[in-house]
Amino acid sequence: MNQVPFAPDVFTWPDDEPRLIGGRCGDCAAVTFPLQPSCARCGAPGMERHLLPTRGTLWTWTTQEFLPKEPYAGGETPETFRPYGVGLVQLGDEVRVEGRLTTADPEVLQFGMEVELTIVPFREEADGTEVLVYAFAPAGEGRG
Ligand SMILES: [Zn+2]
Repeated sequence: MNQVPFAPDVFTWPDDEPRLIGGRCGDCAAVTFPLQPSCARCGAPGMERHLLPTRGTLWTWTTQEFLPKEPYAGGETPETFRPYGVGLVQLGDEVRVEGRLTTADPEVLQFGMEVELTIVPFREEADGTEVLVYAFAPAGEGRG
């Protein structure tokens, strides 16, 4: 099956151990996600490509209980939509990244829990191409 990331330069793909692609400032060492043309902290141009840690802690989270409005591009209909979690994850001591969670179960999700990066299907194009998005799974469950 043809699999493509939902956006370029967000995570390494194809890759057996995908990593998020952030940026690191050569002047002040600030780390950003995603990679930006200039530093959000000091304004220096020329951020270096910097692969982020794959594990982190869940800083805060919420659940998306209804089908988001446009320009959401997930491809679900109100009939097929399933609630999902959205979390803010602290990766190492470097940066906080917002992303989908593989579960929306409040029994599973806990503040400060360890999570790890995983790549999950987002939608399927008419030609069968599977569009992939990054997400965070409870540590130990992500790579099945
Ligand atoms: Zn900087």
